[in-house]
Amino acid sequence: MHQLNHQPETDIMTERTHTRKRYIFASDFDQTLSFNDSGYVLAELLGISASEFERKATGMAKLNLVQQGGELAYLLLHDPEFRSKVRPEHLYEAGKRVRLKPNIDLLHKFLSEDIEDHHFDFYVISAGPVEVIRSALEGIIPADHIYGTEFEYNKNGEIERILQVTAGYGKVAVIDQLLEKLKTGPDRIVYVGDGSSDIHVMLHINRRDGFTIAVSENKYLAPIAKRSVISDSASAILIPILEEVVRWDPPRIRELFDANGLLIQQWDKVQTDVLTIVPNDGVVEERPLLTVEETA
Ligand SMILES: [Mg+2]
Repeated sequence: MHQLNHQPETDIMTERTHTRKRYIFASDFDQTLSFNDSGYVLAELLGISASEFERKATGMAKLNLVQQGGELAYLLLHDPEFRSKVRPEHLYEAGKRVRLKPNIDLLHKFLSEDIEDHHFDFYVISAGPVEVIRSALEGIIPADHIYGTEFEYNKNGEIERILQVTAGYGKVAVIDQLLEKLKTGPDRIVYVGDGSSDIHVMLHINRRDGFTIAVSENKYLAPIAKRSVISDSASAILIPILEEVVRWDPPRIRELFDANGLLIQQWDKVQTDVLTIVPNDGVVEERPLLTVEETA
């Protein structure tokens, strides 16, 4: 179902967008465009319990041996249980079972067609196995616009090695490749993500005047992202883009949603300070005051 890839459509797009400001819209996948980490879905499919997967993934994350977000890729290659069980067809099937946030198709349409004078090329950059993400977004986002961790398989369909990991700093590398390929400036990038695997790439994009959006209240990410938006609908990602990049006002944004059959029912703007305050027990470690006298 990759009709979006067909040549004629690409030609029309190029023609229509040549006078518009062209941007790269790049999005994380797990918990940004979906509700759960696809690692859990895959583990379940392989008959590995959620708690066992969580134990292994958390253990990996604590070691900091692999880039944050690359734990699943590491387990698939090195954990005997995962490695012996997983085959490419499981990755495809896991993608079909991932619960997507609603309106990803609309977000794609808005960004590529509906904003006058602007065109956003939609890319997905995920630390997850690329087969899972391509399967999950099949018919919505063209496969060649989806970057994920890639494996090489042997003739029995077993994972032989990792070709590339698009976690952590690996996402920066993909962004740089896209900039090179599309001949776009770094200030023409919008990146959206939810977790610690997105920290490097967001810092990198901010530093070069791009725009970053967090879709979670992750304590490491939210202070880095230029805007945060919390919603169960993928279309909400559009709001900070329309406000800050396209410079539309709220009535015009509501109109666009309305014209596409969506109602913005609740729109609260909050700035949250998160503090932990503990009783000050008044005990201050005593330091010897003699040092000054001694050296004098
Ligand atoms: Mg994520």
